[in-house]
Amino acid sequence: MNNDIMVTKAILPSLEEYVEEIKDIWDTHWLTNMGEKHIALEKHLKKYLDVKKISLFCNGHMALELLLQALELKGEVITTPFTFASTTHAIVRNGLTPIFCDINDKDYTIDADKIEELITENTCAILPVHVYGNVCNIEKIEQIAKKYKLKVIYDAAHAFGVKYRNKGIGNYGDAAMFSFHATKVFNTIEGGGVSFTDENLEKKLYQLKNFGIKNQEEIDGIGANAKMNEFQAAMGICNLRHIDECIIKRKELVGLYRDRLCNCIGIHLVEPQKDVVSNYAYMPIYVDETKYGMNRDELEKKLRINGIYSRKYFYPLTSDFACYKNNAYTSETPVARNIAGRILTLPLYDTLDREDVSRICDIINE
Ligand SMILES: *Cc1c(COP(=O)(O)O)cnc(C)c1O
Repeated sequence: MNNDIMVTKAILPSLEEYVEEIKDIWDTHWLTNMGEKHIALEKHLKKYLDVKKISLFCNGHMALELLLQALELKGEVITTPFTFASTTHAIVRNGLTPIFCDINDKDYTIDADKIEELITENTCAILPVHVYGNVCNIEKIEQIAKKYKLKVIYDAAHAFGVKYRNKGIGNYGDAAMFSFHATKVFNTIEGGGVSFTDENLEKKLYQLKNFGIKNQEEIDGIGANAKMNEFQAAMGICNLRHIDECIIKRKELVGLYRDRLCNCIGIHLVEPQKDVVSNYAYMPIYVDETKYGMNRDELEKKLRINGIYSRKYFYPLTSDFACYKNNAYTSETPVARNIAGRILTLPLYDTLDREDVSRICDIINE
């Protein structure tokens, strides 16, 4: 028996529940192309995420990439480098230029006070990330976007089920992308979705994920193939039945981590945000080596020796990737650089034992 503790563990329904859910597929032989499961999951997610409209995709990345294409953006997009590769790639793969804005050191989302100075006549949009499910400074971003007539697209890959001011997080901005990847709070194995309000986007997104097909003889968009299939949708239907319990368990574990680590000198935790219902997606700790007596990499190694796999997430900054490093648009983001060098996310998933969390904290506190 391997007792290693991974940083995350995908949620799964029981095998019986999944088999029951996919049985109809053997009657219909309808495997993909927006079938019954797809339609049902869309309906359930609209309700659960409390959004007006949602369009499902084969994964979160394609959802974001095709969303940017659907918005017909041109020029520069203000974003942050403290994110997963996908955010920056989606911008660049659309022929757009990422302009890297720094993040704030409280919740690690975009520093809204630094956006305005980066706006030029070529700026078309702001693409902030709700990092770890922490909500960005939505009001300030909205205000700037309005003043300069910019689109706002949120990377809400981490923010499944998060609520801000009693509304689903997907209601903010022009659109938001959710990821349903296996490693996320909610999964459809691989999968993703875009929430939006503009009616025109609905048809565009639908066509773009299906080769730009308008009807059998007309193709009016340079689309891709990014459809969610029926087996993915069935997994989503099953997982959604249990998601509230999973989030409650995460919440309890985060509470335990916080109790055990809040007095550890040199280890900083993110403060819970006001007006936010969290999904407890990640357990990040900031390791201040001058006070803790060990740096982040050393702590990561020490945990690993004990069979505990934490993750340097996000490290490195996307602007430091070989494919972006020497591009003219790389700007200085000192706060993001500092956080990326000192952040560590600890194991967190619904079935993680409380005893294991205790043991992880003992090692960190030691
Ligand atoms: C996971 C993730 C994505 C991409 O989603 P996939 O479903 O894996 O394609 C994009 N942005 C962020 C911040 C993510 O964590």
